[in-house]
Amino acid sequence: MAKQTEAVKQLTYLAGALKAPRILEAAERLAEQARTASWSFEDYLAAVLEREVSARNASGARLRIRAAGFPAVKTIEDFDWDQQPTVRQQVAQLASGAFLHEARNVVLLGPPGTGKTHLATALGVIAAQQGHRVLFATATEWVTRLSDAHRQGRLEQELARLRRYGLIIVDEVGYLPFEQDSANLFFQLVSSRYEHASLILTSNLPFSGWGTVFGDQVVAAAMIDRIVHHADVITLKGASYRLRGHGLDSLPSTRPDITDPAD
Ligand code: ADP
Ligand code: MG
Repeated sequence: MAKQTEAVKQLTYLAGALKAPRILEAAERLAEQARTASWSFEDYLAAVLEREVSARNASGARLRIRAAGFPAVKTIEDFDWDQQPTVRQQVAQLASGAFLHEARNVVLLGPPGTGKTHLATALGVIAAQQGHRVLFATATEWVTRLSDAHRQGRLEQELARLRRYGLIIVDEVGYLPFEQDSANLFFQLVSSRYEHASLILTSNLPFSGWGTVFGDQVVAAAMIDRIVHHADVITLKGASYRLRGHGLDSLPSTRPDITDPAD
């Protein structure tokens, strides 16, 4: 017994030195279980360390989710697939997170209210849970951020800093058209991440409408080329989820014909 107390004292010191207070707590709690069930030393050590690692991952994920700046936290589990049955398989595959390791992009297209922001956020939450740093903003906000950096002569640094994020989400491409300068900055963001790190973009316009957004067909084509080269394009269809049951299914913006990507 005296020996154990001595060991616990030492553990208290060691766990403190490692900044891993949960090791101490798990070590004591699991020791009982280990003795009762005659675990091997290796099993016991693995069980103790596992508690610390999963606690760290969970609090890291919480921090990364908070830092991402999602407008609202949404998950894949919250998504009602009956509204979008055709994309279920495609999204389920993305939910493994493999696209992030391959620096692949995801493009979500569709009319307002069909769940583009929801799915972009849900994939962002998964990325954060898997240890990637994530940043979410609208296309307009990204351009503002890049213009500020450009004006202060630190665009390159800003792009380099952003490359350390495994995932950047650009919501609402196409809601507002860009000025020429803004379009060029946005192009630099896309180029700087090309084959380095992932982007998720959402748009209510098919690719054929992006020329108007970026004020220039050539810039738009070059950008779409880089985005789509390694990308999953998910086309959501149908009426707005926000307007369900309001008898407003036929708003002009919910016409399915404007969502067909022309790639
Ligand atoms: P979009 O970005 O395409 O305009 P959102 O993703 O913002 O649409 O969706 C609008 C609202 O409806 C959000 O609150 C979202 O969570 C919800 N929503 C949309 N589609 C679904 C769905 N299939 N299942 C559950 N909630 C949905
Ligand atoms: Mg949206």
